[in-house]
Amino acid sequence: MKFVQREDWGAPASSPASYLASARGVKIHYLGTEYSSRVHSLCDDYVRSIRASHLANVKENYIDIAYTALVCEHGSVFEGRGTHKRCGANGSAELNSRDYAVCALLGSKGFTSPPDAMLHGLRDAIEWLRRDGDAGDWIGGHRDGYATECPGDALYAWVQKGAPRPGGSQPAPAPDTYVVRPGDSLAVIARRLDVAWQDLARVNGLRAPYTIYPGQTLHVPERSSGGRQVPAYPGAGAFVLGRTNPAVVTLDEGLIRGGWTRHHDGNGYQKGPRFSEFTRRNVADFQRSRPELRGDPDGYPGPLTWKLLFS
Ligand SMILES: [Zn+2]
Ligand SMILES: [Zn+2]
Repeated sequence: MKFVQREDWGAPASSPASYLASARGVKIHYLGTEYSSRVHSLCDDYVRSIRASHLANVKENYIDIAYTALVCEHGSVFEGRGTHKRCGANGSAELNSRDYAVCALLGSKGFTSPPDAMLHGLRDAIEWLRRDGDAGDWIGGHRDGYATECPGDALYAWVQKGAPRPGGSQPAPAPDTYVVRPGDSLAVIARRLDVAWQDLARVNGLRAPYTIYPGQTLHVPERSSGGRQVPAYPGAGAFVLGRTNPAVVTLDEGLIRGGWTRHHDGNGYQKGPRFSEFTRRNVADFQRSRPELRGDPDGYPGPLTWKLLFS
């Protein structure tokens, strides 16, 4: 990913926008104005001009550029508000805390066809927000749930296909190596990379107590074919309203990945060991979405809810 941090295009290092623990997914936007193709050395000028116009917008009372990220025709991803920040571009407070907002530097007049490099950049931004921003799998356009032409017919058609990489290749393959970050454990890394922690330990020759350190480079094992592994069902006793259990963290990761995070305390749905009323309602939303579960959407995960959530 060709990533341009805020301070590298002339914004303060951190956005003052409110904290957002997780998002259902990512909404794609375009400029919706006339725009001309340009050389890449002028792209950061344009991003700065967008921030300046947002800050000058008294009606919306913006505190920063409204987008989470912006992607130019050359495939660079300009950091906007960034990960774990509520965006300001989706049309309402509720929509802004539900999804991240990524804007393509594409016009409604002039330069209107997204080139392959731009689609790769948008895909890079989506994967970055999933990896580092706890974005779920949902992908949509600004027009989903809001009356607007945005992101234009060309980008919207691409979004509806699932935002694939150009040339038929789907999301980037798992990287071969992973550099350990502060706070990582083998279990955390395995979940992030979607591999079994036992495989991760095996290919790196690690034995109990599985000591790893920040900056260490790990080899990443091949993913088992056939999609994700379903974690073992922990039993109904793990899910008691108001009580904590480690299995609730796993449950929350499944909810966040699937975008079942509509109910939260106002800062986005957070994963954690407590089975809260927010957790129960988000599970109930998932149950209502599946014909097999719709008959009893009580919000308490049984073995079938568990299996379907993680398949
Ligand atoms: Zn938009
Ligand atoms: Zn550019």
